[in-house]
Amino acid sequence: MTQVFRSPAGYVQGRNAIDELGEHAADLGDNAVVLGDELVLDLVGDRVRDGLEAGGFDVTLEAFNEECSETEIERVAGVHEEFGADVIVGAGGGKAIDTARAAREHTGGALISLPTVASTDAPTSSVAVIYTEDGEFVEFHVYERHPELVLVDTEIVAEAPTRLFRGGIGDALATWFEAEAAHQSGATTIFGTRSTRTAQQIARLAYTTLREHGRSAVDAVENDAVTESVEAVVEANTLLSGLGFESGGLAAAHAIHNGLTQLKATHDATHGEKVTIGTIAQLVLEGHDDAFVEDVAGFAASMGLPTTLAEIGLEDPSTENLEVVADVACATEETIHNEPFPVVPADVRDALVGADAIGHRLSAGGRDGD
Ligand SMILES: [Zn+2]
Repeated sequence: MTQVFRSPAGYVQGRNAIDELGEHAADLGDNAVVLGDELVLDLVGDRVRDGLEAGGFDVTLEAFNEECSETEIERVAGVHEEFGADVIVGAGGGKAIDTARAAREHTGGALISLPTVASTDAPTSSVAVIYTEDGEFVEFHVYERHPELVLVDTEIVAEAPTRLFRGGIGDALATWFEAEAAHQSGATTIFGTRSTRTAQQIARLAYTTLREHGRSAVDAVENDAVTESVEAVVEANTLLSGLGFESGGLAAAHAIHNGLTQLKATHDATHGEKVTIGTIAQLVLEGHDDAFVEDVAGFAASMGLPTTLAEIGLEDPSTENLEVVADVACATEETIHNEPFPVVPADVRDALVGADAIGHRLSAGGRDGD
């Protein structure tokens, strides 16, 4: 089977990078629609417009209606056509970027992904999550094309709520473990092919970067500071994790995340927070030794990420609830089957119980002495 590595054509990151948008986008077109919710347009709309105009663009700012639904995608595609645009910029969080990504599929032209948070690895990807207008999950859609440009302004990311930055660390913490499981089992990536050595090493680099720079990066972001460690972790959360999950492969952690989303009680937890629980459960499922699992879980805890079910809203979950999570995680099409051994729902349920116990032991700090 062939091996495929795909990625955005360009990636730009740094303090005040947003002011260079026009320079980096100049070859992509000359008429841009910028999609972002009102908060994001208030925050960066003028600078995005100025940056693009400096690159010779005509610019239209368009307010995003808060949900990446088919209705909104069609509306945005209509706006794109009305202005004769050849570039769409998705600015802000995942949903605005996903809507721009999906609209571009209808309209053609170039896509610029401009995340204002480092909360997930989605901005570099070719994947969008589609919802109903009421916010119910419909599907993951994999598009043919990647963004032509991903631009991340680290000063803007550092000023966003630290919880979102921590969540991005949780999302990126899963990437290497999942890519490695998929590689060991010979599973295919979302491109339906084998992964490459390149993608495996990128996934690994996401992990080592977090371990080496995570602590000081979180401390800096708490204080709205941009240090070299913040640059390293933003790159890990966004570029390394994004390339690593798409071209490296997914496995149990994200499947368990998808199972956890079935329980309403987890809805206040972010994507990365739920993925963190999925990661620790994956390590338990894979039978790693205690010291290893405790080390990874301890690192997650030190990042301010959840390690117990209670911390993602599941105070004392019933066995039935955990079985709902496990059944969804083990659905036929789920990436949990990329693990190098067969997985059944009872394994997942018990891995969650085991992961939760490790989290409780860590948070007790060994005080209970057993
Ligand atoms: Zn993720």
